Amino acid sequence: MDQQLLKIIADFYQDLPRQGPGSTRATKWALSRIMEMGAIKNVLDIGCGTGAQTLILAQETGAKVDALDRVQDFLDVLKAKRDKLGLKDQVQLHHAQMDKLPFEPESFDLIWSEGAIYNMGFTYGLKNWGKLLKPGGFLVVSEISWTTESRPQLLTDYWNNNYPEMDLVSAKVRLIEMMGYSTIGAFALPEVGWRNYYEPVSQRLKDLDGTDNPVLQSFLDQIKTELNIFKEYKQYYNYFFYIMRRPD
Ligand code: SAM
Repeated sequence: MDQQLLKIIADFYQDLPRQGPGSTRATKWALSRIMEMGAIKNVLDIGCGTGAQTLILAQETGAKVDALDRVQDFLDVLKAKRDKLGLKDQVQLHHAQMDKLPFEPESFDLIWSEGAIYNMGFTYGLKNWGKLLKPGGFLVVSEISWTTESRPQLLTDYWNNNYPEMDLVSAKVRLIEMMGYSTIGAFALPEVGWRNYYEPVSQRLKDLDGTDNPVLQSFLDQIKTELNIFKEYKQYYNYFFYIMRRPD
């Protein structure tokens, strides 16, 4: 991605509580399902952002957590939060790309990715990230998905342009199974998960709107469109947690 745009994204998001839809309760709920099923000693958090979920993963499991993101500014915010909580020895941060993961095969009991797999695509993530799981290990991702078979064409066109892999939950589950995982569960993010993300985003948008930087303004306009689409059509889609397991 163009460095100017990457800097704009980093500046826009780094002081927000999270960089994608989600909630502490939803993270804990998905995690509790897994912790009932197997021991978790090593966790990889891909696309951690400023760590909305990273520190929960560390605190709830007590496991060693490797958290990875391509934006150094996000990692710096996470580092400060981590150190304040005394988790420096438990949580290691990696400035890296999610398509060049610097880890050995079969290293992790759990790979976690909230709101980030879309950057590579759901299919890519399942195919490639799974290799880093130990046999019997878990993969948990949150992913935007359709909740209805029929919907307005304008909405379908919008998301097809922005994320062509967006699909029905049933199709995602089928894909999980076709790719050799077993499905542990799929659940919808409660609406508060969107508010946790969109309310701070809307405020930031208001503060910056009308800038004379054309690249920033174009980025803000894209966010405005996304917010308007959500307001109008949110009954047709949602974020879902997909919880899956690599067979032994
Ligand atoms: N998980 C965080 C959360 O829910 O608040 C952040 C989600 S945000 C929507 C997606 C994250 O993926 C961002 O932090 C972004 O920097 C990171 N990201 C995007 N593309 C990436 C790539 N190719 N390699 C590593 N990180 C990437």
